[in-house]
Amino acid sequence: MTDACAVALPVTTIRSADALTWIRLAAIALVAVGYAEAFDRVERLRCFLGEGRAHNNHQSIWAVAAILVVPAGAASLLVAITYGHAMLVARRSGAMRPHRALFTAATAICGTWAGAMLFDTVTAGSHSPLGGPLAVIAAAAAIGTMFVVNTGLVATAMRFTSTRRGRELLPPNDALWFEAATMVLGVVAAQLLITAWWLAPAVLGGLVALHRAALVTKLQVASATDLKTGLLNAATWSERARAAVRDAAASHRRVALIAVDLDHFKRVNDEHGHLVGDTVLRAVAGALRRESRAHDLVGRFGGEEFFVLAAGPTAAAHAVDLATRLREAIAALELPNGIRVTASLGIAHEVPLHGELDPLIAAADQALYTAKALGRDRVQTARPVDQPPAGAGREVPAVLAVGPSAF
Ligand code: GH3
Ligand code: MG
Ligand code: MG
Repeated sequence: MTDACAVALPVTTIRSADALTWIRLAAIALVAVGYAEAFDRVERLRCFLGEGRAHNNHQSIWAVAAILVVPAGAASLLVAITYGHAMLVARRSGAMRPHRALFTAATAICGTWAGAMLFDTVTAGSHSPLGGPLAVIAAAAAIGTMFVVNTGLVATAMRFTSTRRGRELLPPNDALWFEAATMVLGVVAAQLLITAWWLAPAVLGGLVALHRAALVTKLQVASATDLKTGLLNAATWSERARAAVRDAAASHRRVALIAVDLDHFKRVNDEHGHLVGDTVLRAVAGALRRESRAHDLVGRFGGEEFFVLAAGPTAAAHAVDLATRLREAIAALELPNGIRVTASLGIAHEVPLHGELDPLIAAADQALYTAKALGRDRVQTARPVDQPPAGAGREVPAVLAVGPSAF
């Protein structure tokens, strides 16, 4: 349906195009194709790093410019040309996924057409982007319409092909800001095309700078993230946790370290396969993220072992509550094939001895193993590592058991 509309829209309105329209269309198409050729590798890397969400790329700059300077049919044709070229480039490099590429192009064409029709109707086809307040409002509304139609179509399709839901279907915030900046550049490009085309290289310079900034941010996020779950990877979690623990020790503050290991996870893999197992891991990661606070450090350490470090001023006092919430959230997850999983959790909460993380990890792990030994699906609290062992002067229980029945 979307594909059919995308073919029909440019064809129906392009027939009435005049010479000026064709010249403007050709100028934008030339710059767009030239830019895409020059920055193909960077763009593909950015796409790869943003995989799995509704994704918008730099092409919206040309779509916005076209909406503002040529009629709707020509603007849709421009988008068809730029996406067609992008598909050729992808084919050349063997990165082509035809169905997805066609659908993405079709949504972009539909979005552009809807935005352009709105702009044409409000400005009565005057095509002078900054020709007055009405044109500016019309441009903003047209860009908004293009974005909503495009992203809405992609997100709707993803609902049927992906396990992601709600906000997860939309691009992340940094991608939205990138998109907004690209669209502003599109407005500038349109104005320059009409009034001072020889300044167009300035727009290209801005686009290159934007690209580089976005790519660096994406690479930083990717290098810190566990690709399977989106949580912090072990190396980054350790580095940040060490710094947080040092800070807490310096101000004699207790921290809470919670180790989480899924119960009998091997069975899930054996019975349902590793792909389903991976889906479960992602769902568990989502539950850990949702139940912890924004500044808590949530990381994936090994296969199905996670760590949560809460280092805020009152974190340790609420460690058992937090761990219990995590346990309950995991047990309540509704997973594919009716799978249910539980987890065992070990807590270490204390002022870190000498500001070191490793003794805390050892203590939380020890408590976790005790939780497993006591029957799993429970929270255990470790004896503080800087206190003398039980029997050596002061009676301290080796491990304080907090099982599911206690809550
Ligand atoms: P226990 O209750 O004692 O923890 O039992 P368990 O089966 O969970 O035992 P263990 O923690 O040793 O299990 C690790 C299993 O996790 C082994 C492997 O099949 C699975 N696993 C590890 N990494 C991954 C992964 O990335 N994806 C998937 N699907 N499974 C993984
Ligand atoms: Mg396990
Ligand atoms: Mg394990």
